[in-house]
Amino acid sequence: MGHNTGGLPSNLLITGASQLLTLRGRVPRRGKALSELGIVKNGAVLIRDGMIAAVGSRADIESLPEARTAEKLDVGGRVVLPGFVDSHTHLIHAASRAEEYELKIAGASYEEIARKGGGILNSVKKLRAATANALKKRAHRALQEFAAHGTTTLEAKSGYGLDLASELKILRLQRELNQEQPLEIVSTFLGAHVVPAEYRTKPGGTERYVALLTETLIPDVAADKLAEFCDVFCDRGAFSRKDSKRILEAGKKSGMLPRIHAEQLTRTGATQLAVQLGAASCDHLEQVNKADIRALGKSNTVATLLPGCDFHLGLKYAPARELIAAGAIVALATDYNPGTSPTMSMPMILSLACTQLRMSPAEAIAAATINAAYSLLRDNQIGSLEAGKQADIAVFEVDDYREIPYYFGVNKCWMTLKRGRPVFQKAHT
Ligand SMILES: [Zn+2]
Repeated sequence: MGHNTGGLPSNLLITGASQLLTLRGRVPRRGKALSELGIVKNGAVLIRDGMIAAVGSRADIESLPEARTAEKLDVGGRVVLPGFVDSHTHLIHAASRAEEYELKIAGASYEEIARKGGGILNSVKKLRAATANALKKRAHRALQEFAAHGTTTLEAKSGYGLDLASELKILRLQRELNQEQPLEIVSTFLGAHVVPAEYRTKPGGTERYVALLTETLIPDVAADKLAEFCDVFCDRGAFSRKDSKRILEAGKKSGMLPRIHAEQLTRTGATQLAVQLGAASCDHLEQVNKADIRALGKSNTVATLLPGCDFHLGLKYAPARELIAAGAIVALATDYNPGTSPTMSMPMILSLACTQLRMSPAEAIAAATINAAYSLLRDNQIGSLEAGKQADIAVFEVDDYREIPYYFGVNKCWMTLKRGRPVFQKAHT
């Protein structure tokens, strides 16, 4: 590919897509509509200044006058789809927790490890000690991995700081990374990840930490516009439903929409709370009951499933089929984090969604693109390939889109473009 020159408009014509998955159509996708990929055979995309100018069959797009002068990219029969939108990650952390991985394999539960000061508190200790520079370097490397697997936008949560300075350190780094590298980062404040160690030993410690969150951290984060969303880990060993409500309401009052970690290890009623509060997303859902599923089916709160976490911990998966049947807006995300889901690979998540959650390849792709974009309130800009949207595109080295989840543990991503510019290209092709 050539380079853009001077102030000329950067037009790019992509042709040679054996299947072009546009994902055009209704948003969000529920029920049967979740399988609608809007496939164009032998498709083409015309990009102008990072935005999609036209999408359609090769013959139609090539006949546009603008197409003749555009740079050309023939993808040689590969599959083209919208870049993945990873709507749940814990991007910034200081180190892996490989030592706990081994303990878990030997039989220790996630909660046992957490009680011994491992788990999230282990990551908090390491993050507080880490320099912003070291954290940024690690996040940069991770972002390159995300791009290499076809992801073009990701949500990132704070939550390994749990004091004012450290939470602000994370959120400011996310803002810098969003400006300094091509992938788009959407920030969520997760000060309510767990109660930090220094509050656990104090009398009324949880209450005091919740007060710190609602009276200091949330207003400060909002005043600096450091996060669009406010999240809570509502579970045994983390925050109760009552505390979660207080925290999310405070976030809402400060202009941050709720997201929630719900019914992962135990059922707490967090899903019902998410629906009541009009949360953008309700994530995990392994332990939901029938009433929760019904409530999600009738709401606009996205049901974000994180099968990487259950795979890594060896726990049961969320009832995706029941959620889809009830009409819930199902999305998929990596939950990239050092304790429970150390992966940047959305294709691996699609593989797990297909084999473990029994979602079809088409459903999994829609869940990882347009529905995830909806959960981040960005369905007007990303998540499908339609005129007027950002040219966020993934190209996979397969003949048929079903091969994207079918191959697992190998990376079939061939090229990733963010706003029309390549951010990843497979070597030696
Ligand atoms: Zn999470």
